[in-house]
Amino acid sequence: TSASTKLPFQAEVAQLLHLVTHSLYSNKEIFLRELISNASDACDKLRFEAINDGGLYEDQPNLEVRVTFDKAARTLTIADNGIGLSKQEAIDNLGTIAKSGTKDFMSKLSGDQKADAQLIGQFGVGFYSGFIVADKITVESRRAGMVAGEGVRWVSGGAGDFEVETIDRPQRGTSVTLHLREDAEDYLNAWKLKQVIGKYSDHISLPILMEKEEWKEGENDQPGDMVKTGEWEPVNKASALWTRAKKDITPEQYSEFYKTISHDYEAPLAWSHNRVEGSTEYTQLLFIPSKAPMDLWNRDKSAGLKLYVKRVFIMDDAEALLPSYLRFVKGVIDSADLPLNVSRELLQESRDVKAIREGSTKRVLAMLEDLANKAAAAASAKAAEDAQPADEAKTAEDAKPADEANADDEVTDVVDKKEDAAETHSEDAGKYAKFYAEFGAVLKEGLGEDHGNRDRIAKLLRFASSASDTVSVSLADYKARMKEGQEAIYYITADTLAAAKNSPQLELFKKKGIEVLLMTDRVDEWALSYLHEFDGTPLQSVAKGAVDLGSLQDEEEKKAAEAAAETFKPVLERLKEALKDKAEDVRVTTRLVDSPACLVVKDGGMSTQLARMLKQAGQ
Ligand code: ADP
Ligand code: MG
Repeated sequence: TSASTKLPFQAEVAQLLHLVTHSLYSNKEIFLRELISNASDACDKLRFEAINDGGLYEDQPNLEVRVTFDKAARTLTIADNGIGLSKQEAIDNLGTIAKSGTKDFMSKLSGDQKADAQLIGQFGVGFYSGFIVADKITVESRRAGMVAGEGVRWVSGGAGDFEVETIDRPQRGTSVTLHLREDAEDYLNAWKLKQVIGKYSDHISLPILMEKEEWKEGENDQPGDMVKTGEWEPVNKASALWTRAKKDITPEQYSEFYKTISHDYEAPLAWSHNRVEGSTEYTQLLFIPSKAPMDLWNRDKSAGLKLYVKRVFIMDDAEALLPSYLRFVKGVIDSADLPLNVSRELLQESRDVKAIREGSTKRVLAMLEDLANKAAAAASAKAAEDAQPADEAKTAEDAKPADEANADDEVTDVVDKKEDAAETHSEDAGKYAKFYAEFGAVLKEGLGEDHGNRDRIAKLLRFASSASDTVSVSLADYKARMKEGQEAIYYITADTLAAAKNSPQLELFKKKGIEVLLMTDRVDEWALSYLHEFDGTPLQSVAKGAVDLGSLQDEEEKKAAEAAAETFKPVLERLKEALKDKAEDVRVTTRLVDSPACLVVKDGGMSTQLARMLKQAGQ
């Protein structure tokens, strides 16, 4: 046997540990979720490696987690028979933070303990949460496939360093023993542990076992106590959530499952759970988050689906399963057809994957359409309510919260007061707006990326307009409000709403009362270049070419402009000469009302907005 080696934590870990133990104190119980999820990950990894090397199971093919406690020693142990850790892996994985997200984690800490506690796990700092309740953690492990003599013991008090030594360990896998702090003694209680496991880990697909206890009367005037029986029982359902029937899953369970796989701390906006049969068989469980992750804009990184094959975990972030513009979706695909040893490269070429991708895309769009329809229904219900004469005081009272259905805090209000139907309405009314505020800009990428679904995506888009400051106008709304004789859907792109609204290019439209969509997302220019028309009506940028308002333009105005062009010919010539390197043409226009001049892009030319974007991107 070798002596133990003392090693310092990576500086970031030490800093993190300090934060974890100090700021996450009010939400202690999450440590159990984190350690059980690590045990479960370790079992997933073993299952995966064993696909190519069945010998790794040794004589223990049944993967499981055991949770035990020792009151006298004040320890709590979470043990698994998963992949285990070699000594080097223990040093690397339990002493450093490989993930670059840690700095972000630290910068995101708000000082609000509850919010901070939710952040943990989001950045792979899960293991260290053990130190919230423990002043010392002992990890003993042996990696699958290594000999008993190559076990490892890792011990740390959670301050600056840890110790590792080689030990004999016949059993495969990892046991994490927490030496509980005095004020965490309530975890030395089977009832409490079962309650926390039930809350966070019920959906974990492998059994979490605890030793059965029974009551024993005290002898010789001693008080009675619970004693262990030596028999083990599962304390979770131990079936992967998505394999269960929908009717057996509560909304809370869906929500909790979502939080685990997404590392999000808010409940999802919507989910869809289906078994798809036919030429390709798979189960899909898809969630729409209510908040965008920090790396949403990193198109390479954040794909949110986990791929399983016949309940065996294959990979995270399986980007082939959904198009990139739906990368905000989280969830699980469990395929019955793919081979277990499928690789990312193979996924790209698989016909089954193509079918899964198409099916899942349609499902997500349907979920969004559903949210959008509910919002529209609530809005028209509200409009109808408003139109009614408010002769009864009660009607007026009832209508009030619905007025503000978009404001979050008001929704809670509504939920408390109103009966069922109204509740869902008001809640749903805000959901699509919430979704759109977080992910609308990403969804727009779909116009360029997914030609087959372009029309469905276009219907889901919402914009601000000269008639609405909120991003709530759909292209269909716009069309319904078009003036008689208006032949195009007009839009303008700008950096900010204020810039769009005050653009001189809008003057004529304002004067004529023609609505113009105001677009301020960076992707708008690019995305809109793929959408030439909506429902038969062309889209036209007001900043491009000579805007022809067709029959909406007064004959007189046209004549006046022509006359002015004649009169000003010499001026135009001189301006053209003066600006010859900068402007292609100088014209008299009817589009301005108050401003003396404006810049426009020639028809089919690159817009100023896009030009600026490309310049920024170094092109
Ligand atoms: P994450 O789970 O997000 O990777 P954690 O802090 O929870 O981050 O765990 C850090 C690493 O420690 C894991 O990635 C894994 O390599 C290792 N680890 C933790 N617990 C176990 C375990 N029970 N069995 C094997 N490896 C483990
Ligand atoms: Mg973890």
